[in-house]
Amino acid sequence: MSDAPLKLLVTGSLGRMGQAVVSCAADDEAVTVVHQIDVGDSLLAVLPACDTVIDFSFHAFTEELLRGCVDLGKSVVMGTTGHSDAEWKLVEGASAKIPMVCAPNFSVGVNTLFWMSRKAPEILGSGFDIEVTEMHHRLKKDAPSGTAKRLAEILAESRGLTYNEHAQHGREGIVGERPSQEIGVHALRGGDVVGDHTVTYAGMGERVELTHRASSRDTFANGAIRAAKWLHSKPAGLYDMQDVLDLK
Ligand code: NAD
Repeated sequence: MSDAPLKLLVTGSLGRMGQAVVSCAADDEAVTVVHQIDVGDSLLAVLPACDTVIDFSFHAFTEELLRGCVDLGKSVVMGTTGHSDAEWKLVEGASAKIPMVCAPNFSVGVNTLFWMSRKAPEILGSGFDIEVTEMHHRLKKDAPSGTAKRLAEILAESRGLTYNEHAQHGREGIVGERPSQEIGVHALRGGDVVGDHTVTYAGMGERVELTHRASSRDTFANGAIRAAKWLHSKPAGLYDMQDVLDLK
C-alpha cells in the first residue's frame, strides 16, 4: 500500500459533525480532505477525486450518495442515522458492491458500552428489567438516537427478542404493569448535550447502570477517520465499529 494520504470527501460538511471531521482530519497526516460538500453542491463533480466518503449528513441523502459510490467504486463511512427500513435496505444492497462502515456511534467508549451491554445480561440473568435512556442537544432531528436504537437491539438480541416487537418508546397513561420482556427506550432533548446514553438493569434489591457521556464531537470524528483508514484495505461488505476495533 502506498504512503500517500487517504483522500476523503466529507459530505454534510457544514454540519456539526462534518466540521469536526474536517478539523480532526487536518491533524492527521494519514488522510487529506480533498473535497467537502453540503446541500446544493454536486456530489458527482467531486466524487471521482476521493478514495473514501465520510458522510454525516441526512438520511434522505443516502440513496443519491450510495448510487454514486457504487457506480464509481468508492468506499463509504456512514455516520448518518435515522434511516427508514427501506433506506437501510439500500445500505445493505450497496455494501454487496462496495466496502462500507456504518455505525450509529464512532466513539471507542460507546463501542465499549455496546460490548458491556451485551455481556452484562449474560451475568445478571433474565430477572433484571432493561431500560435505555439517551439525551441529546435540542437541535437533534431523529429519536431515539441511532446509538440508543443499537443498544436496544443488542439488549433484545441478548435475550432472544427483537427490537421491533419489544422496544417500548416512552410511557403515558394507565400502561399497566411492566412486561418483563419489554425494553424501555426514552429520548431526552435539551441544551447542547453532545450525547449521553445509559443502560439500566433493574433487579429486585439492586440496580446496575452503564453510562457513557460524550463531551466532544471529536471522539466521533476521529473514530470515523480511523474507520476510513481501516476500510481502505477491505473487500466489499457491511462493517461496523465493532469490526474496526476488533471487539467481535
Ligand atoms: P447537522 O444538522 O449539524 O449537519 C448535517 C449537515 O448535512 C447539514 O450541514 C446539512 O445541510 C447537510 N445535508 C443535509 N442534506 C444534505 C444533502 N442532501 N447533501 C449534502 N449535505 C446535506 O447534523 P449533525 O449533528 O452533524 O449530524 C449529522 C448526522 O450524523 C445525523 O444523522 C446524526 O444523528 C449523525 N451523528 C452520528 C454520529 C456517529 O458517531 N455515527 C455522531 C453524531 C451525529
